[in-house]
This record gives sequence, structure tokens and C-alpha cells, in this order.
Amino acid sequence: MNVDLHCHSTMSDGVLEPAVVAARAHANGVDLWALTDHDELAGLAEARQTAESLGMRFVTGVEISVTWAGHTVHIVGLNVDEHNKALNEGLAGIRNGRAIRAHEMADKLEALGIPNSYEGALPYAANPDLISRTHFARFLVQEGYCSKLQEAFDKYLKDGGPAYVPMHWSTLDDAVGWITGAGGRAVIAHPGRYDYTPMQFDALYDHFLHVGGVAIEVMTGSHTPDQYAQYATVARQYGFMASSGSDFHSPREGKLDLGEVPPLPADLKPVWHDWI
Ligand code: AMP
Ligand code: MN
Ligand code: MN
Ligand code: MN
Repeated sequence: MNVDLHCHSTMSDGVLEPAVVAARAHANGVDLWALTDHDELAGLAEARQTAESLGMRFVTGVEISVTWAGHTVHIVGLNVDEHNKALNEGLAGIRNGRAIRAHEMADKLEALGIPNSYEGALPYAANPDLISRTHFARFLVQEGYCSKLQEAFDKYLKDGGPAYVPMHWSTLDDAVGWITGAGGRAVIAHPGRYDYTPMQFDALYDHFLHVGGVAIEVMTGSHTPDQYAQYATVARQYGFMASSGSDFHSPREGKLDLGEVPPLPADLKPVWHDWI
């Protein structure tokens, strides 16, 4: 079975509309699919409608921005009730901070000799509530300040980079609480991307379990093959269920297209084990 439980549409920082992402997942052979836009549920109705019309199994999803020990961690929520009040209010609160942060990011870029980046990035954000670093990165590439998206992050936008604006997103307790309160399962997204010490990782996993988290992404477009094995081991050690997702944003960006995620190691318990 081909499972892809992590990807983005124009409702956050993806470039394809929810229905187009659904059709692409189906065309690429995905059997069980979730759309997981950043801090936003608005694409789910269209995604579900298209998935169902194509006969592809659909799971609701969201990727919530969290600040933990001074760094951003992404928590994917799967199989949530998209109408749940606390979840919707919590996400609205996170989205509120993005506009102010975008202006601050533009100020920093201006000081680095790149004027008008807020105005430049905004047209890339089909959902202006969800203006993100990715939209700034696309602007920087389009205007020739950088040759590719990764360079825009490496040179300017990455955590701690010269145009980075530190954020206080949600707390881990709140994000996991909103997800489980909406009937969903909370998953640590792409653990291989976080800049924590081994001791901090252990503390993150313990804290996540303590507040009701149940799974981690093992197979993701953000991991190298070595990291597939590394986080499979973490799943075994902590008793986490395992998840899989391409983290697809655009046909021209990222390592994996929809449906290209390698299968999970057979001994791990898939987070979707009782959804099929
Ligand atoms: P934001 O939520 O505005 O902080 O933007 C985060 C998004 O930027 C992530 O979801 C990725 O799509 C992208 N991103 C973050 N860091 C990097 C990086 N180092 N390289 C490429 N893309 C990145
Ligand atoms: Mn993203
Ligand atoms: Mn992420
Ligand atoms: Mn993502």
C-alpha cells in the first residue's frame, strides 16, 4: 500500500491547490493520503472531495508549528475533526503572529540590501494569513538574489540566519492537546531536521509521550536513508507508531514527489494501522 501522510497545498506553502495535490497523489499511486498544511485546515474540504471522487482514501491532517527548547518543532496531527473548536482557535492564534513576523523579516532583508521583500513575497502566498519563509525564499530566487530555494534558506532564512526572526509558536502541550482533543493522533514531523543534542531529543520524546503524542515520522522527504534507520530505532525504543510522508511542496522543490516515500520497516506499527 502506498501511503503519503504529509504534504502541502496553496493553503500554506505548497504551490498546488488542494484538489491538484489530491489528483497528483492519486496519479502517483497513493492509496491513503493526508493533506497537512502548516497551521491551517482550510484546504481539507476540497482535498477530501477530490480524493473521494478519485477513490483514494483520505485522512485529515495539519502540521502545527511549535516552539520547544528555543527551536521550532513541527507536530503533524492526523485524523483530526477539522471542525473542532479548540483546534481551530489554536491554529488561528498561531497564524496571527505570521504577518508581523513577515514585516520584521522584510526589515532584516532590507538591512541586508534586499528591499521590498514583503511586497515581493506576498503574491506567492495564496493564503496571506499563512505567509511563510518559503514564500520569501521563492521571491529571493525569482528576483535572482539566490539561485535556488535551499540557498535562500542557507544564506538568509534558516533558523539563526541573518534574516531569521525568532518566533514563539504554540507550546508542545497545546499542539498535542488540540490534536488529541480533536480525536487525532499527534506525530513528530521529520525529527532528523531538529538541531537538538541527544539529551534534548530524549527529553523531547519523553515530553511528547507525556502529553499524549503517539508517533514519529520515520520515512520523510526530509530524511536521508541513514536517518530512516536512526528514527526507526527511536520508534522501537519509545514505542512510537511510525508515519510516512513526502512533505511535498512543489514539483520543482524537495527530494520526494507525492507517493515516492519508501515503505516503512516491516516491524514498525504504522500510525495508520487501524484506518485501512
Ligand atoms: P515558516 O513556517 O514560515 O517558518 O517556514 C517553514 C517552512 O520553510 C518549512 O515548512 C519548509 O517548507 C521550509 N524550510 C524551513 N527550513 C528550510 C531549509 N533549511 N531548507 C528548505 N526549506 C526550509
Ligand atoms: Mn513547508
Ligand atoms: Mn515541517
Ligand atoms: Mn511539511
